[in-house]
Amino acid sequence: MNADVIATLASLVGAAHVRTDADSLVVYGCDRTTGWTPAPAAVVLPATIAEVQALVRLANEHHLAIVPSGGRTGLSGGAVAAKGEIVLSLERMNRIRAIDPVDHTLCCEAGVVTARVQQAAREVGFFYPVDFASSGSSQIGGNVATNAGGIRVLRYGSTREQVLGLKVVTGAGDLLDLNRGLVKNNCGPDLRHLFIASEGILGVICEVTLKLRAPPPSARVMVVGAGDCALLLHVQAEARQRFALSAFEFFSRRALERVTAHTGLTAPLTTATPFYGLLEFDEPAGGEQAVLDFFLYCQERGWVDDGVIAHSERQAVSLWRLREDISESLAAARPLKHDIAVTLAKMPGFVSAMEALLAERFPTLESVWFGHLGDGNIHLNILPPAEVTGSELVSLAPAVTGRVLATVAEFGGSISAEHGIGLLKKDYLHYGLGAAEIDYLRHIKRVFDPNNVMNPGKVVAF
Ligand SMILES: Cc1cc2nc3c(=O)[nH]c(=O)nc-3n(C[C@H](O)[C@H](O)[C@H](O)COP(=O)(O)OP(=O)(O)OC[C@H]3O[C@@H](n4cnc5c(N)ncnc54)[C@H](O)[C@@H]3O)c2cc1C
Repeated sequence: MNADVIATLASLVGAAHVRTDADSLVVYGCDRTTGWTPAPAAVVLPATIAEVQALVRLANEHHLAIVPSGGRTGLSGGAVAAKGEIVLSLERMNRIRAIDPVDHTLCCEAGVVTARVQQAAREVGFFYPVDFASSGSSQIGGNVATNAGGIRVLRYGSTREQVLGLKVVTGAGDLLDLNRGLVKNNCGPDLRHLFIASEGILGVICEVTLKLRAPPPSARVMVVGAGDCALLLHVQAEARQRFALSAFEFFSRRALERVTAHTGLTAPLTTATPFYGLLEFDEPAGGEQAVLDFFLYCQERGWVDDGVIAHSERQAVSLWRLREDISESLAAARPLKHDIAVTLAKMPGFVSAMEALLAERFPTLESVWFGHLGDGNIHLNILPPAEVTGSELVSLAPAVTGRVLATVAEFGGSISAEHGIGLLKKDYLHYGLGAAEIDYLRHIKRVFDPNNVMNPGKVVAF
């Protein structure tokens, strides 16, 4: 990038907020994926919507590429800048603008960290429900751009269900004020929803108005052990009949072994079982006895072998950590991550088919299952043997992922339940969308970003 452009960037946001040093380029040029070498030309940190608009207009003028950057906790390469792009970090746009106790809304700039929104809501007696292991680092803009899900989708839905308004700067440089915090607004198709899960390819999300909820009542957390995944679905169906369920997560024995080895946490049950379910539900009217009755009912039917109920907040947190820390505990093993979803009705058949496929085609690989079973979202992590490195490792990924995602397509599932497409799953998009749908996506991209300045090369080929 020539010095004139750098000088112009500096004139737009201030010289202190344009970074070209090697450390910044590496830090801001990647997310939590590992397949690409960060190589942006510069990092810019605007502080206002007007500055974002000026940067996008400059990019159009000079044919520059912009990669919007949130907390860079993404798992699909969406925030990777490996081709001399400008990283546009939202980190200075981190003000909470207003909390409205009448409309139950919180309006903030896109760079506010998710956990801060949760905290701000709590401080005024409300609750922001979207939560997951990286919410201490991810930003609201990144959550909207990926339609982040997490552990309480079952009750509250994904980020999409929380968004009542968005201010965005399109790839053409226009500022759109979408839906303005309204609950009802049927003025034609809702453009707000196009920007949710758009992964930065249509424009920059600058401000978000979120729906706040009443704080949930006190919760019960329990973990049960089961012989297979289908049995856990019986447990979930019964739990839904009896309780107000807020979460139903699961993990396999291998996932448990990895997370306990990594964290030092103890296994929840004395006997190991192939699968574990973690349930969270509102304290039932019948108290502890109602929970015990439920457990015995499941045990009598052979659905569960063992179980534990948390008796303190501390114990509940430890049980949750067994699920939430799995992803981090696998990071060093270079997993091939698959964030997939099928309907609950198809889940048992899908899990059996996938296990058979992996055992037959890739017997040396270790498969680790965990995820948000309650909403059909599985994080299937496939770990190569430690001795597989270099080109062997590189060629393994397409061979395995291609097979896995083709099977997902056969079951009518999603190849990206909540992490997005980014760079990682771009070549497999046809397993998730039809040719006509992909073509419509391309047209939509052209409408909002005619010069392809926004996150080029991500999600769909232009
Ligand atoms: C340990 C761990 C656990 C996780 N668990 C979950 C989980 O349970 N559920 C889940 O959904 N995700 C999960 N994730 C993935 C990740 O945290 C989410 O995808 C999160 O929403 C990304 O937010 P971010 O701010 O870090 O975005 P980034 O990684 O910075 O960016 C993600 C994408 O959004 C774009 N983007 C970012 N900000 C903007 C903006 N302001 N305007 C336009 N585009 C923008 C980027 O260009 C990129 O394409 C997990 C990640 C980790 C590391």
